[in-house]
Amino acid sequence: MTVEDGLYASEREHMVESQIVRRGVRDVRVLEAMRDVPRHVFVAPEYRYLAYADGPLPIGNGQTISQPYIVALMSELLELRGDEMVLEVGTGSGYQAAVLARLARQVHTIERYANLARYAAGILQELGLDNVHVHTGDGTKGLPDFAPYTGIIVTAAAPNIPRPLLDQLEDGGRLVIPVGSRGGQVLERWTRHGERFDYESIIPVAFVPLVGEQGWKD
Ligand code: SAM
Repeated sequence: MTVEDGLYASEREHMVESQIVRRGVRDVRVLEAMRDVPRHVFVAPEYRYLAYADGPLPIGNGQTISQPYIVALMSELLELRGDEMVLEVGTGSGYQAAVLARLARQVHTIERYANLARYAAGILQELGLDNVHVHTGDGTKGLPDFAPYTGIIVTAAAPNIPRPLLDQLEDGGRLVIPVGSRGGQVLERWTRHGERFDYESIIPVAFVPLVGEQGWKD
């Protein structure tokens, strides 16, 4: 390990304790993934000094890498055990997908901007996370080719729940998604029981918009 890697590792440990454990995330597998995945490699060099700070950061195209606590919380809400098929809508930097790669068997992630998808795929490959598959397209329609999913996580703000995402959940599967206006949303978790869906409101959040056929118009 280089001196630089050692410094990042200690910043990461501090991030997990002060931002994530302190706010109540308890899933030990999620905490381990947050301790392991190097967030700084998903961030542009000019923002790297802020890689373990308590907030989102710009990644280009007007988009952001989410706050570490929100990544951990959304991952915990999926209740993954390690043998699942997961879909992420909104690849962005690829960081959330890298965390999910530690928690599930296979991760499909879809991003509407081809340049972000390409860049994220490159980093995920460099990290050797070959159970993550990056796609380009409109994730509001889901990714039916690989459905059903045990978990679906949407990392952009939806005006309503996109019906295709509910349809692509397996029985007992969970959808975690911010829903609300462009200015502010509530993080929701939807759980499938046959043809019935239960939902819980978790916390207020602020995400960039989910733009697509079943989302906001461009
Ligand atoms: N999960 C990301 C990470 O770890 O860096 C953060 C994602 S950022 C908050 C939201 C992403 O959703 C943006 O990259 C945006 O381009 C993408 N997005 C918005 N609408 C989308 C859609 N319909 N399909 C796929 N991606 C979409």
